[in-house]
Amino acid sequence: MTSAYNDSTKKLQMFHNCLHKIFAPIVSMQRSQKGFEEIINGKIYWFIPFVAMCLLDWPEACTYCMTYNCYNCLHPCHFCLIERENLNNMQLHSDQIILRTHTTMQQAIQNELGKENSIHLLNNFFWEFR
Ligand SMILES: [Zn+2]
Repeated sequence: MTSAYNDSTKKLQMFHNCLHKIFAPIVSMQRSQKGFEEIINGKIYWFIPFVAMCLLDWPEACTYCMTYNCYNCLHPCHFCLIERENLNNMQLHSDQIILRTHTTMQQAIQNELGKENSIHLLNNFFWEFR
């Protein structure tokens, strides 16, 4: 492995470690279903925070999903396992597209098939959200 790969992998791992620190209280409240109470206009409301979605551009999505941020890799899409040659193929049917899921990507990482799936061999913090 090159030092550039190691540096980018370290940065990616550090980014996800930071996300873990930021979102850990939300994950904890979501899992325990305890939440917190807040008084608004004299009435008590109970909240359970959760992350509904993240709006990202392509490079950010690759960072969050830990997929390779490169159009020349085998599977450049962070959402599915479409092959590079078919990335702009408008004739594909939906049954020809294999979606990336938490489960399949975790299996790929456990089996050290990162390159084959164009995903970094790191634990993704967002897999803790279920
Ligand atoms: Zn896709």
